[in-house]
Amino acid sequence: MVIVKCQIDCSDDAWHTACMEADYIWDGYRQRRIVLQGCAECGSVRFLPAHRCPTCGSAAWRPVTASGNGSVYSYIITRRPVLPVVDRFPVIVLVELEEGPRLVSNLCGVNPTDVRIGMPVVACFDDEEETALVRFRPRTTAGAM
Ligand SMILES: [Zn+2]
Repeated sequence: MVIVKCQIDCSDDAWHTACMEADYIWDGYRQRRIVLQGCAECGSVRFLPAHRCPTCGSAAWRPVTASGNGSVYSYIITRRPVLPVVDRFPVIVLVELEEGPRLVSNLCGVNPTDVRIGMPVVACFDDEEETALVRFRPRTTAGAM
């Protein structure tokens, strides 16, 4: 697997803060958790990381562990592999988490023709060489991660 490192010169400003704060996402994946940013002022939850809350503008935040449950907001089915590593995961989904934020991932454990908008899904995690990646699979009950 290829890990893409940040190419931005983030030596002294908000870029540096934003890049460093993103480590909580990867640490969470290694611990089998999806960790979101929760605004310490207004409580709104966001993903991807942002230096300031898009709702109230506060820079204060706290980590919020998502339930791992969500639903398919949108999806595409790839007809040819973009990278060899994704060849076995041809369904790319935009998942809306129960907490509200949406994230792009892969849907596995399902026939691509059975995927539907609104399908309940639950997070699952794959270990890679130096990290873990979050993917989703269909959720048939009130599933846990
Ligand atoms: Zn806020």
